[in-house]
Amino acid sequence: MSNPPKLRNDCFALPPGVHWTPVDEALAHLRQGMTVVTGIEPVPTVAAGGRVLAAEVQANRANPPYANSAVDGYGFAHAALGDGAHSLPLIDGRAAAGMPFDGLVPTGSAIRILTGAMLPKGVDTVVLEEDTAVANGHVSFERGLKKNANTRPIGEDVTDGEALLCEGHILRPQDLALLSAVGVETVQVRKPLRVGVLSTGDEIRELGTPVAPHQIYDANRPMLLDLIHNWGMEAFDLGHITDDAARVHATLTDGATRCDAILTSGGASAGDEDHISAALRNTGTHNLWRIAVKPGRPLALGLWDGVPVFGLPGNPVAAFVCTLIFARPALMTLSGAGWRTPRAMTVPAAFAKNKKPGRREYLRARLNADGHAEVFKSEGSGRISGLSWAAGLVELEDGARDIKPGDSVMYYPFAEFGV
Ligand code: AMP
Ligand code: MG
Repeated sequence: MSNPPKLRNDCFALPPGVHWTPVDEALAHLRQGMTVVTGIEPVPTVAAGGRVLAAEVQANRANPPYANSAVDGYGFAHAALGDGAHSLPLIDGRAAAGMPFDGLVPTGSAIRILTGAMLPKGVDTVVLEEDTAVANGHVSFERGLKKNANTRPIGEDVTDGEALLCEGHILRPQDLALLSAVGVETVQVRKPLRVGVLSTGDEIRELGTPVAPHQIYDANRPMLLDLIHNWGMEAFDLGHITDDAARVHATLTDGATRCDAILTSGGASAGDEDHISAALRNTGTHNLWRIAVKPGRPLALGLWDGVPVFGLPGNPVAAFVCTLIFARPALMTLSGAGWRTPRAMTVPAAFAKNKKPGRREYLRARLNADGHAEVFKSEGSGRISGLSWAAGLVELEDGARDIKPGDSVMYYPFAEFGV
């Protein structure tokens, strides 16, 4: 199978001269630059949960594959019912699921039938057991039953050959039920996107190693690795490195041989110690995206040996939000799942806030018992605990807003970001 084409060298280029790029513009540029980079492989349906479909899937069989009874009861031909109360002689035999009745049910007679049983020849209607009385070899029931009552016609749900799921769909548990029901044994899916995660910073220490008073634990790497995992991608731990140009170089070069994309955190601004930016600058594909967003700092974007590198801010809150808003849809596109735009709920605010124009803001938020969005007590971007407190994000548009309790705001549950 041929490999998809590589990304274009200018895939992260922004128009020159713009100082602060609005979020929507940044997203539009990102979307333009990203294409699927993963190969295709066949996988048995039973093992395909969480995988991305590489092609549309069609049914190999109808569902249901044969007309059958929806209830336990008695089956007969509707045409033979007269005008009075119904009393039909029962024939010998029974139709059950997996044990069809092979004979013909004569017009004017009825047969015992159970849920899921194929309708025998001569049966088009079933009366529910609870609505009948059986005595002297006859089944009696009230008038008023419609033709085909309590039956499921062949193909009622899915017809043979029908298109079911489209390319880019991420298979969920219920999709595996559908594909199995219609006999799809194997699906063509994308190979999982391999995403490397790298932390940088002289002050950062790995959990489980001793920390000096001036050092902090690496909070970003476990978070980013787990996000990747949540998105059905393959996470590669590229570890933590100090702010050292040679090590940044070597680690990105190694990562690029094993990964389809790399997320780094820290060192992405334009300062002396911003070694991710410095390294990417030498590739000729580097772009420092100053996006009008809070929380955020510049994003450093570039290609390292053809592999897209998303240089996220070091601050964990900013790293998290920027990953959800910018990196996720880009990674989804690279993976074959296509650009994903989260859908917001419009809910009343449980807070007040006067917001200045000029940038979009994402607040750590959750719904209170009334379904109103409350926000974390602090907008401090160092307050990692607010991410755990929150169940989603409130998005405040680029312009000014003077929000009073009860005013409508946009709320994105984390589930909209696959978290
Ligand atoms: P930087 O983007 O490298 O300037 O880092 C911004 C802030 O985020 C600094 O306070 C860093 O100490 C902090 N930071 C950077 N990387 C991490 C990390 N992996 N875990 C927790 N905090 C970090
Ligand atoms: Mg740093």
